[in-house]
Amino acid sequence: LNVIGVDIGGTNVRAGPVAGGHLGDVVRRFHDGTGSDKVPYQTLLDGVLSLIGELRGRVVCEAIGISVSGILSLDRSTIISNSQTDWVGRALAQDVAAITGLPAAMENDGNCATWAEYVSGVGRGVDPFALMTLGTGVGGGVVVGGRLALGSDGFAGEFGHICVETRAGLECPCGASGCLEQYASGRAIVGRYSSGPNGRFRETPGSRPPALSPGEGRTVEVRLARGLESGEPWAARVIEDAAAKIAIGVSAIVRVLDPPIIGIGGGAADLGAPLLTAIRQAVENYAGIDARRLRVQLRLARHREYAGIVGSALLAAERLLDHCPSEDRSP
Ligand SMILES: [Zn+2]
Repeated sequence: LNVIGVDIGGTNVRAGPVAGGHLGDVVRRFHDGTGSDKVPYQTLLDGVLSLIGELRGRVVCEAIGISVSGILSLDRSTIISNSQTDWVGRALAQDVAAITGLPAAMENDGNCATWAEYVSGVGRGVDPFALMTLGTGVGGGVVVGGRLALGSDGFAGEFGHICVETRAGLECPCGASGCLEQYASGRAIVGRYSSGPNGRFRETPGSRPPALSPGEGRTVEVRLARGLESGEPWAARVIEDAAAKIAIGVSAIVRVLDPPIIGIGGGAADLGAPLLTAIRQAVENYAGIDARRLRVQLRLARHREYAGIVGSALLAAERLLDHCPSEDRSP
């Protein structure tokens, strides 16, 4: 059984075949005009279809799963909200299914990553389970009773918009201010680190963390990781401050869901143990007297770069092929 997982990111689309929980060779295509944030829907669709065509030339596929950022309709047919305004209102999975003749299912990227961890990562056998992703934004997902919790309107598990700063919070594109995403996304962490201890960026009401281009962001991330390793004070400070905000989000998840394990994923999870230690410490500081009772474990996600591909494929198998996810669990 091969299911193609498609992961639609900010600058590229990647796809790979997943069989028995294992990912085969991944193919990718960059959006036209990389770096631009306006990709026409037809360009996206053409890119997705060409990758699927390429993979079908190599392996036999039964279904397609698609991971996309933003908010989807409750029935998962339509993109309701996305920073790419031309994609809003589009039924991407249906369009892909109509052209390829294969059943296709679409899911939010945070939910896909959560499902990948639940089926074959740090959330395996863990119920309830929550994953928080620290990537371009902050997202995540929740599994309860063996199912992804979608909520009544389809956007459960949007941890990035938990308010962590009620006074003079940074402005968020969602319309609120003080959202976790503005302090703890991979982009926010790297942007703040790049501006330096006496740098140009000041956290003032209405301001937003500086945005770096993907290449620039990656370079700064590597510098930050090295800084953490070598004990550089500014690197430690940036991570401590982000961890303090993440801890508020983690504590909220614990209060609502009481999961035994919370996974931490997304690009910032590549910072590894120093990030995890800082979050754990911050949770204990924040939770105060309750810390002794907070037995929740924090674990780095197993699926990183390919979480969207693997998770969307596993979800498509589950939803479209009436396929028990346990069969896909790797040994
Ligand atoms: Zn927000």
